[in-house]
Amino acid sequence: MSAAAAYEALLAHAKETTLLASTAALLAWDQEVCMPKGAGDIRAEQLALLARLQHQRATDPRVGEWLAAAEADPYVQQDGDRAANVRGLRRDYDRATKLPAQLVAELAATESKAQQVWAEARSASNFHQFRPWLDRIVVLQQQKADCLKQPGQSRWDALADLYEPGMCAADLRALFAPLRERLVELRQRLTRGKAPDDAFSRIEIDEQKQEAFVRAVVTAMGFDFRRGRIDRSTHPFCTGTGGDVRLTTRFHKDNVLDALGSTMHEGGHGLYEQGLEPQHFGTPLGEAVSLGVHESQSRLWENHVGRSEGFWQWCWPIAEQHLGSACAQHSAASVHRAANVVAPGLIRVEADEATYDLHVMVRFELEQDLISGELGVAGVPERWNGLYREYLGLQVPDDRSGCLQDVHWSCGLFGYFPTYTLGNLYAAQIAAAAEKALGGLEALFARGNFATLREWLRRNVHRHGRRHTPAELCKLVTGAPLSSTAFLTHLERKLLPIYGLA
Ligand code: ZN
Repeated sequence: MSAAAAYEALLAHAKETTLLASTAALLAWDQEVCMPKGAGDIRAEQLALLARLQHQRATDPRVGEWLAAAEADPYVQQDGDRAANVRGLRRDYDRATKLPAQLVAELAATESKAQQVWAEARSASNFHQFRPWLDRIVVLQQQKADCLKQPGQSRWDALADLYEPGMCAADLRALFAPLRERLVELRQRLTRGKAPDDAFSRIEIDEQKQEAFVRAVVTAMGFDFRRGRIDRSTHPFCTGTGGDVRLTTRFHKDNVLDALGSTMHEGGHGLYEQGLEPQHFGTPLGEAVSLGVHESQSRLWENHVGRSEGFWQWCWPIAEQHLGSACAQHSAASVHRAANVVAPGLIRVEADEATYDLHVMVRFELEQDLISGELGVAGVPERWNGLYREYLGLQVPDDRSGCLQDVHWSCGLFGYFPTYTLGNLYAAQIAAAAEKALGGLEALFARGNFATLREWLRRNVHRHGRRHTPAELCKLVTGAPLSSTAFLTHLERKLLPIYGLA
């Protein structure tokens, strides 16, 4: 087979694997959104079959042969698109084939059971119940890391690389240490200021009205409803890609700002997926580059757009139109302040923009020590509670609101949490680059112009797919390697005046 034919075979194979994966994703979406309760068993079988088929395709020895032929061909290597696709597919193939089938099966079985035990332990607020399962998961994750590890990588690095290619613990420590110091300082400083009145976020508003409101906002952001939908689920998420992107959101009777934030967040993920180049569908060039960069797109719309003054100038009449009497006694300015309240709490998913990353850093510390073996599983609650005192100034009263709050570890997601903070840092740095390139973004938002920013993101971030590594993309878009400077500047510039401290 010629190198050109091998490349074509590789791409055709990858495209079919993506179609299979997107079918599984659609079934998973259905499970969360509209599946009848009694269909759980058949759905589990359907998803397990699709996962098996995907794994078979991903590890098909022919892929290795096609890759070797394509890699040896100078023509493929000199062509930017082809070389990027071959690099991406090589990475995927190596990752899939490095793990023995026995270990993959044991991980899947253990994690599926561990999730159930975690849910029970969490509602009983009893870490002891979950402990033997976490013990087993840590051992399996260590074995997984040993299979994946490349020279120079620690075990934790090998796991983190699955979610953020090229990221390692040493780089994260260098990013996080000064960030943590400044965030703790900012948190303490804000306690001396005047907290905004957040009464607006506690008004009871009919869920249908809230839904009409958030739909109007996501439409203005430019989410394409001909190629996507928005529905409800307990935990908001975004799935699907290209021609069919599914967003979900949630509504609480008395927290319209939560619905707005969740919807804009998932909308930002959705715009990234809709901004990938359709002709590259099913290949690395048609896929998001990393979880951190994906999260940057959601955080950018949720925080840099949705919590800005300009946005609220545009949004307030829309809110009044949909939410009616709930808006009496409030104004664009007061709701902008209410959307920016900083209140350190115990629960990560409820955290505000200024303290969220401190929650992530607690998990980052613990994970590294668990995976390296320095910390035994039995020591998790004590260490967790100590770090919450140190970083957030909070006393953890029980395991439910402490180390049992997140599902991630029971699913075997180690090395995943830092992508949330990377998302915040990338978002701030990308937003600053957009401001520099376009100028006066808030004035555009105030006029309801979100297309200028969206199209800039599409050109500069979305359309590249996996052409560059996340670090290369960051440098290309913002002109500098990732740092916490833009994020801290953004927070201080916005929050200190709101708290009457500047
Ligand atoms: Zn997200």
